Amino acid sequence: MGDIQIRGATKRFGAVTAVDGVSLDVADGEFLVLLGPSGCGKSTLLRAIAGLTPLTAGALELDGRDITHTPPRERDLAMVFQSYALYPHLSVERNIGFPLRARRQSRHDIRRKVAEVAGTLELSELLQRRPRELSGGQRQRVALGRALVRDPGAFLLDEPLSNLDAKLRASTRYELVELHRRLRATFVYVTHDQVEAMTMATRIAILNQGRLEQVGTPEEVYDEPASEFVAGFLGSPPMNLFPATIVSRVSRVSRGGELVALAPGMEVPLGRRGEVPDTDVVLGIRPEHLRPNRPHPAMSGTVRLLENLGGEEIAHCAVGEVRLCVRGPRPLGLAAGDEIGLAVEPGHVHVFHPETGRRLR
Ligand code: ATP
Repeated sequence: MGDIQIRGATKRFGAVTAVDGVSLDVADGEFLVLLGPSGCGKSTLLRAIAGLTPLTAGALELDGRDITHTPPRERDLAMVFQSYALYPHLSVERNIGFPLRARRQSRHDIRRKVAEVAGTLELSELLQRRPRELSGGQRQRVALGRALVRDPGAFLLDEPLSNLDAKLRASTRYELVELHRRLRATFVYVTHDQVEAMTMATRIAILNQGRLEQVGTPEEVYDEPASEFVAGFLGSPPMNLFPATIVSRVSRVSRGGELVALAPGMEVPLGRRGEVPDTDVVLGIRPEHLRPNRPHPAMSGTVRLLENLGGEEIAHCAVGEVRLCVRGPRPLGLAAGDEIGLAVEPGHVHVFHPETGRRLR
């Protein structure tokens, strides 16, 4: 089992509140990613779960058992560090078996267990090597092996891929997802990389300045960001965010009241959902939801720059004072200097409160 309950977790370092009243349930077997920018408190929260950093306030439970004050060794959690923290003078075999030797298991049992874990991680051929004789990816697998061998209730992983090059990172992502599937164990995984979060997580918890902004599946946090912060953090290029005013007007088509968001040079239809007329808001539209040169454009602007990403193209456009990114399959059929109309995919306009940043609709 590996249910983790975090209740009002708070950690202060002097005047800095690194983790600020975070409550979160991690279900057994989940792959939960703690995601956020540098300094948002994700490592501190993970270290608190591991017992390496005592909380200033709040409580932690593992399978309903209070572990707030339990020493790390007795928590039944295995941590994998960014640095791997391998013993340089020990072989792969002895590195992986280390936690079992510390528990004084028999030599025979240790050998059997290490062989099994090495098989799972495809390290069987490398058991007699030392860490310095391994590639970054292999070292990372040894660090995982040392966690795996303990058969813990949950795995805590702190940016385990950040020392790998881009290609290896992509293949190791895939391996970790496979491993998670096979083990059916709970993973709590810290990263600032949204691609890792989106591709591996069953749920993502997004932290900002020590606070939990949103928890949800990758689809939920991407499609329905709960705040302007989440909207701007996920997506590459990020969501276009700009001030607008919502007004209601009589639509000639439906003969009913319709809401539109107005900003200089644009009039974005919001459909008939939502009840926030006559307010100032922040509007959010993802680059892939702006379509150039379609019927019924919501705005017109000028193409300033095109970026070729291979399969896709990004057009940086100016609409009045607002700079907007448009993303689509290449070729978009645009050139710098073009005057264009931009239509908005219906149902893909996000509205946020201008002061609190919370989602309005
Ligand atoms: P990164 O991705 O850069 O590792 P993070 O989101 O993991 O960032 P933390 O390492 O948890 O962030 O740090 C959160 C805040 O707490 C930061 O402002 C950091 O400077 C501060 N902090 C972390 N550890 C300590 C410490 N031991 N003493 C004082 N301040 C600390």
